[in-house]
This record gives sequence, C-alpha cells and structure tokens, in this order.
Amino acid sequence: MSIDTVHPTGRVHVVGAGPVGLLLTALLQSIDGYSVRLYEKRRDYTRTRMVQLAEYLVASSVESYCADYIDGENVEAVFDPAELAEGLAFRESIPPDLASLLHQWSLGFCPLNDIERSLSALVDARGPTNVERVTAVMTAENAMAMLEPGDIMVDCTGSKSLMRDYLVPSSGARESSANTANIRLEYAIVVTFLYGQAYDCNEYCKYHKNAENPTYKFIPAVGRTYYDGAISHVTGIVNISAAEFDAMPPSFDGTWLRANFPDVAQSMDRFIGKIKEETHGEIIGDLEVVRIPLNLYRARNATSRQWLASGAGDHPLSHSPVFLVGDSAIGSPYFQSISLGFECAMCLAGLIARRDLPLREMFDRFELFMYKQWLRVYMRSKMIKHNKDLFECVDDPLALLEKLHIY
Ligand SMILES: Cc1cc2nc3c(=O)[nH]c(=O)nc-3n(C[C@H](O)[C@H](O)[C@H](O)COP(=O)(O)OP(=O)(O)OC[C@H]3O[C@@H](n4cnc5c(N)ncnc54)[C@H](O)[C@@H]3O)c2cc1C
Repeated sequence: MSIDTVHPTGRVHVVGAGPVGLLLTALLQSIDGYSVRLYEKRRDYTRTRMVQLAEYLVASSVESYCADYIDGENVEAVFDPAELAEGLAFRESIPPDLASLLHQWSLGFCPLNDIERSLSALVDARGPTNVERVTAVMTAENAMAMLEPGDIMVDCTGSKSLMRDYLVPSSGARESSANTANIRLEYAIVVTFLYGQAYDCNEYCKYHKNAENPTYKFIPAVGRTYYDGAISHVTGIVNISAAEFDAMPPSFDGTWLRANFPDVAQSMDRFIGKIKEETHGEIIGDLEVVRIPLNLYRARNATSRQWLASGAGDHPLSHSPVFLVGDSAIGSPYFQSISLGFECAMCLAGLIARRDLPLREMFDRFELFMYKQWLRVYMRSKMIKHNKDLFECVDDPLALLEKLHIY
C-alpha cells in the first residue's frame, strides 16, 4: 500500500490539546468532510504562565503583517508576496467566534490557561460536532497502531514531541535526535512576579536598573509587562551557567534563590528595588522562578515525507501522513512560540481543507512553509541573543568590541 494510492478517510488524529492542538482542532472543525479525534493526557488546564501573542497573527494586510520591528524585513525577504497573501486570505476565512478570541489575545498579555480553556470551550460549545475528545497518554506505538490507511495524524505534543524522531525511517534503534536540529542559545532563569503599581520597561530602563549588576543582569521582557489596572505582571530572565542550571531544581521561589544563588538573586533584587524606588509599589505574593535551557530547535522533517521515499509499504507511516505542528516542530526561546505554532496550524488547516491537493504536494508545501518559519525564527532569535550579549557587556568596551563583527 502506498500513500499515493491510499484513499483519504477524512479522519484527523490531533495528539496533544495544548494551545496549538486546540487551535488546529477548532480550525478543522469548521471544514466540511473531516472528523477530528483530539487526544490529551491532562484533565485540566492549570498552567499559570502569562503569555503574549504577536499582533501579526491577526494582521489584515501584508503591511501590517510585516510591521514587526524586529523581523518585518526578514519576513519580506523570506516569504513571497503570494505566500503572504495566501496566509492572510486564510485568516479572513476563520470563523468569527475563533477570530474574535485571536484578536482579544493579541491585544496584550494573558494566562496560557485562559487560551487553552477558551479554545477548549469553543470546540465543545459548537454543537453537534465532528470532534471526539479522548483522554489518554498516547505512546508512539499506540498512535501508529490506531492509524487506518488514509488517516492523518498531527502531533501537537509540544517540545518533547511524540512522533518527531519517528519521522525518519531507520534500520536500527530509534535515535533520540534522529530528526532534531538543536541550538542551545543559553541557560536562564525566568522570574515572574506581580507588582502593585503600573510598571513599564524599555531599553534605557533595563540599562539603568542594572547599573550595579556587573555579572548577572536581570532583563525584563519589554512588551511582556502587562498592567491590568491594579497589578503589573512582570517577567524577566537572568543568564546563568550550565553548572548553575544543573544545580537548580526546575522551579522554586525567591527565597530559595537568595539562599542558594545569592549573586543571581542580588541582580534581581537590585532591579526590583529600583522599580520600587521609582513607583512606590510592592511585590504581591512571591517570586516564581523556573530554570530553562533556551533552545532554538526544529524538526528537520516536519512531515512523514521520508517514509514515501523509503518504499517501506507495510509501515503505518507509509500509508498515513503525519505532520508536526507547534513546539513539536519548532521551538524558540524569547517568548514567541505560540504565535509561530498558531501560524503553522493555520497553514496546515488551509492545506487539509484543499481536498484536491495531492499528498506529495501537501507535504512539500507544508515543509517549505515550516522551513521558512524556521528561517524567520532563527534570524529573530539570533538577533535577540546577539543584542542581549551586547547589552550584558555594555559597560566593558573591549568585551563589547569582541562581540561585534562588522566586516
Ligand atoms: C516560562 C515560559 C513563558 C512563555 N511565554 C510565552 C509567551 O509569552 N508567548 C509565547 O508565544 N510562548 C511562550 N512560551 C512558550 C509556550 O508556552 C509554548 O510555545 C506553547 O505552550 C506550545 O504550545 P503547543 O500546543 O505546541 O505545546 P504544549 O503547550 O506543550 O502542549 C502540548 C500538549 O500535548 C499534551 N501531550 C503531550 N504528550 C502527550 C501524550 N503522550 N499523550 C497525550 N497528550 C500529550 C500535553 O499535555 C499538552 O497539553 C513560554 C514558555 C515558558 C516555559
């Protein structure tokens, strides 16, 4: 049996109901002729992190889509005008219930679990539906075993993707990085806290508030500081070494940080002290700290197209196409991944909706789109990291000059 001859069943298995799996499900739900099975292992949406979606997600023209001051030009360089126009046309076709949620989220900063709960409620509330929800921890073996020839599977299981490394046929044992290209940009702690006054930040503020922090610098994310009328939600990161990363638990509070890494904590406390001097507010509750490796990675194959070439006709991935979407396909630090994942979900939903599209073309078009998204996010992330490196040694001209490569 070959993927070229198999008849599409119209059944799509979406594995992982995080923000991206849910958005994809909501998009497929409105396409005639498809049924979706959505698999999720969690029973509740409880993640507390605040996230921000990019404005380009709801752009209504090529100009507004390319208005982002960091990567607007890169987008114009990488994507053809016709590709951008096609993406915008798909956005226009998004049903109003979903479009209004996207608009709402792109205005500011919101809890990740609000996004997940609202999408989940929207999928459930749409009435007689072609979506079946399954609570289960999927294994790759189960996932492959349930595929009928002609079914589509979309892996939305996040950074520890279920299927990523199965997409490359191999004769022996599966290698854990068979299909993953990973660039470790740095290790960092991410500190979030609530502050009882309006507080906003820009590059000058980052500089002045770090004046006495020669080694560790607390860098708040500009544009991710949100004031809801009574409380500011502040997030910042501090670069740490690999050894420090290894010595920290995955998450902890400010007290633990002060007791165990006083120098790192001091940079954060000095910064917060200056916020208080300026705005006369107080921290509400405790600081939440997580340590994360800031990885920039991609699946070299975001589809099961390699199985087409392998000729292994009896393997499930030879007769059922698989796609990676969201963090399972591309991961980027510096708080941009959900928007990227949403864009990829829109692209795939647009391709799936085109029933006349031969599967090989669908694979090629999705792979090309994902590669372009990768170029875009790679350039963006490297530029942010470079700027961050310069900022961290801005008071040391020789160290600064060493980091400049002009010709
Ligand atoms: C501190 C922090 C702050 C962030 N801030 C931002 C931000 O401001 N903006 C932004 O865009 N991004 C941000 N991100 C990144 C963002 O949270 C992720 O990019 C996003 O959650 C990825 O969505 P996803 O749906 O692809 O994957 P996930 O959110 O990881 O969802 C995957 C889903 O699959 C389920 N699953 C996994 N394995 C299985 C299995 N075997 N069987 C069944 N179900 C399974 C999981 O339970 C989960 O529900 C931040 C990340 C961190 C750590």
